Amino acid sequence: MNTKECYHEIKKNIKEEVKLVAVSKTKPINLIMELYEEGQRIFGENKVQELSEKAEKLPKDIQWHMIGHLQTNKVKYIAPFVSLIHSVDSLKLLETINKEARKNKRIIDCLLQIHIAEEKNKFGFKKDELDKILQSPVFQEIKKQNKKDAGARIIGLMGMATFSEDKEKIKKEFKELKNIFTTLKEKYFKEETVFSEISMGMSGDYKTAIEEGSTMVRIGSSIFGARN
Ligand SMILES: *Cc1c(COP(=O)(O)O)cnc(C)c1O
Repeated sequence: MNTKECYHEIKKNIKEEVKLVAVSKTKPINLIMELYEEGQRIFGENKVQELSEKAEKLPKDIQWHMIGHLQTNKVKYIAPFVSLIHSVDSLKLLETINKEARKNKRIIDCLLQIHIAEEKNKFGFKKDELDKILQSPVFQEIKKQNKKDAGARIIGLMGMATFSEDKEKIKKEFKELKNIFTTLKEKYFKEETVFSEISMGMSGDYKTAIEEGSTMVRIGSSIFGARN
């Protein structure tokens, strides 16, 4: 199947209310345009430079999502246009995004990345760090600011399951992310209707993720083919 056919196949498997982030990292502009012409508007990239270059060349109504690890010194390059940052994994990064958002007079939506996998090399906050982060004065200040005009705004959580064939294990990790989401919403974001997104599920595990309450899946290789 070609990219277009794979795309429509995936769309068939995804409920209407689940958002599809087409992960186009390493893939050329013309393939992105192919999906754009099919109506796809959300694309995900994991490198700042590649993201910026593609955004410049492609239609302005594309919503670009940053899904990869982000260094604080690179936030400024994507702050003018990025639509959602999935990979907020430190308070320092959140502060920087907030600062750059204010400079650009816009709200930048963010997800807190949560470490749910077994692998140590995956980024994200540990469950037991979250209270400290969300109760910190820095976070409270950011929260107050973005209500008014511009800044970083947290709209949910992102997580990656362990790379594994073990369906039960993956299911358990997604359940854990959903539980963390529910707890945080109740405790810190009760009045905020915007805190509503759970970004989980990739090519190998998106069906399980949707069963477990994903609102946003990030799919690359099942649409565009394997990456080198
Ligand atoms: C590359 C990537 C994906 C997509 O992975 P596939 O297995 O190709 O669907 C999803 N999320 C993140 C964070 C990624 O880096």
